[in-house]
Amino acid sequence: MRFHKAETAFFVFIALILTAALATFYAWTLVEGPADALYMPGRVESIEILQKLLLAIAVLLAGTLVYGLFFIFPEIRTQVKEGGKLREMTASLSARSRNLEQAALTDGLTGMQNRRYFDDALREYLGEFGRIDKPVGLMILDLDHFKQVNDTYGHDAGDEVLRSVAKCLQSMTRYHDVVARLGGEEFAIVAPNMDLELLQRVAERMRKAIASLAIETGGAQLNVTSSVGLALWDKEETAEEFYRRADKQLYEAKRQGRNRVCA
Ligand code: GH3
Ligand code: MG
Ligand code: MG
Repeated sequence: MRFHKAETAFFVFIALILTAALATFYAWTLVEGPADALYMPGRVESIEILQKLLLAIAVLLAGTLVYGLFFIFPEIRTQVKEGGKLREMTASLSARSRNLEQAALTDGLTGMQNRRYFDDALREYLGEFGRIDKPVGLMILDLDHFKQVNDTYGHDAGDEVLRSVAKCLQSMTRYHDVVARLGGEEFAIVAPNMDLELLQRVAERMRKAIASLAIETGGAQLNVTSSVGLALWDKEETAEEFYRRADKQLYEAKRQGRNRVCA
């Protein structure tokens, strides 16, 4: 078993004090008996030893004091400082890992949640809202002919459109709705606690809001439309099946000519 420097210092400190204590005890045994018993044989020699012993004890204690002040105390200071640094480092590391975790779940372009977050959140919402027997709605929204926007106005303009659409969707959803960019120009919204009729009205409102966005990009003003696939969870299907059903509706909206909601 290996001792740390500070532990060794502490044991030496204790050993010094113990030695001083033993010497004191020995000194006490030397003067045992009545105080005026100087006539006892060997009493004078005892007192002479006692004098030397007391001096030795004083030196020992002074040494212990110096050792404590100049060795143990600096050692403790170092430990405290290192401990503080370590705590700081641990705190900054865990902050960094929190940031990384957040970054892993956030879409860099729009600041929205990303696909990974969406997949987990959808599964979790179905579990939670299924338990309290409340409806869960899912909208998948895809911008129409977005490739043309990129081709005509450039990729940066396309990015600006995505950011504007993201902001619009975020402003139109409630606190507990999950709003995510699934990738490319495709967004998803998990909206619990709404029946199909209400869900359709909300989706229609979003579609119109996106269509009426006038997006400024480098002088040009762009308009985009979107198609929305809508589904209400049937309380039996898995998250994947539920997603696929909403996606089918999106496909249907595209097939019917785009810029519309299909449920
Ligand atoms: P549809 O109406 O059928 O959805 O047609 P579309 O052109 O919107 O769909 P398509 O899948 O053909 O093209 C999607 C385009 O989105 C292609 C790609 O260049 C563009 N895109 C994907 N991710 C980004 C992005 O992060 N930024 C920009 N500016 N464009 C992106
Ligand atoms: Mg598209
Ligand atoms: Mg798409």
